[in-house]
Amino acid sequence: MTARGISVTEKQALAQLHALAISPVRCTNPGCGTLIPPATLDNIPFPVAFSAEASPPRALFAAIHACCPACAQNHCRGCGVPTGCDGNCHGGDAWHDSGAALVHIPRSHPSSAASTSPRNGYNAIYPPPPCPVPSHCPAVRAIGALGALIAFDRAHIAMGARDHGRAADKPLIGPLHALVFFLSPPAPASPMSPPASGLLLLADGDGDPDGAPQADAALPALLGVSRVPTYAAALLRAGAGGARGEADVGTWMARAPAYGAVLRVLRALGDAGCQSVLVRPVHSGAGTPSWFRRGTAGDDDVWRDEGGGDTLRGLIRKLEGSRAALLKLAGATTFGPTVEKAHALCDGVLYLLLQDVLGEDEDGY
Ligand SMILES: [Zn+2]
Ligand SMILES: [Zn+2]
Ligand SMILES: [Zn+2]
Repeated sequence: MTARGISVTEKQALAQLHALAISPVRCTNPGCGTLIPPATLDNIPFPVAFSAEASPPRALFAAIHACCPACAQNHCRGCGVPTGCDGNCHGGDAWHDSGAALVHIPRSHPSSAASTSPRNGYNAIYPPPPCPVPSHCPAVRAIGALGALIAFDRAHIAMGARDHGRAADKPLIGPLHALVFFLSPPAPASPMSPPASGLLLLADGDGDPDGAPQADAALPALLGVSRVPTYAAALLRAGAGGARGEADVGTWMARAPAYGAVLRVLRALGDAGCQSVLVRPVHSGAGTPSWFRRGTAGDDDVWRDEGGGDTLRGLIRKLEGSRAALLKLAGATTFGPTVEKAHALCDGVLYLLLQDVLGEDEDGY
């Protein structure tokens, strides 16, 4: 891979992901077989008030389910198997204003999923069954990540060149938390779960012999097309302060939710084996919506070196000053929420600094 342009492998991986996202799914209900049209990925309304715990939001559920319009059987949009969750689980009207938090279970065994199918009236008596779809398979995680990135880019592009302040952060934070969800390996909660696998990680046999996560080429390429690195770099620069080299703690605290979300994304990138995103020059391209409409990626979409030369890794390595300043602030105040906020940001920064040191030995970047 070169620092400039997009490699053949990345182009192919992106093309595969695009084909997956725009393909219809065949209903598996015996005697039905209806072709379920592809989901709408470029118009997902993310809630603005948003926490990491409630991620992914219900707004994304229509994109990751394939609900048969004829018989209402629900399928995983990634692999096409029936999921056993209710027909309303794809984000129909019943969910829109319920405010229901996702009950996340790591991954159901596809063959047993159908047998747990809820019967009519189930929801009238019991709470809705947990939905296995968000972490069902690598393919559905890829679609989820794509939906989150398109939503992020649309909001980022809508901001235009305006000053990116605290108000502008708001619509970006939900998609970032959703992205982290789809990048992160499922929690190893069930003994039935296969070994943890993150988004698009290579299937068995193909992976790193040391067991280190290895991302499919589509993932770093997709992130390279997106505006997420642009936004992350802008935030990190703003927090690093001015020419005097003093960290701007005020900015860190005022925009703490945005910093928190970006630190989580950077951490997830390292954990998912996507270090290549961190070492390439940050650019500002047309973003994932434009790529998704066209279906092909060109050199202009990713890694265009605009001469600035900033990489996310370079910016991460300058974070020690911000961490020290945040610690100092936490030590100098007695207001609980401020102390908590500052410590949470310190922890996020510390993880990235350690990940950077440890990752350097492994991947030689
Ligand atoms: Zn059907
Ligand atoms: Zn699946
Ligand atoms: Zn579901």
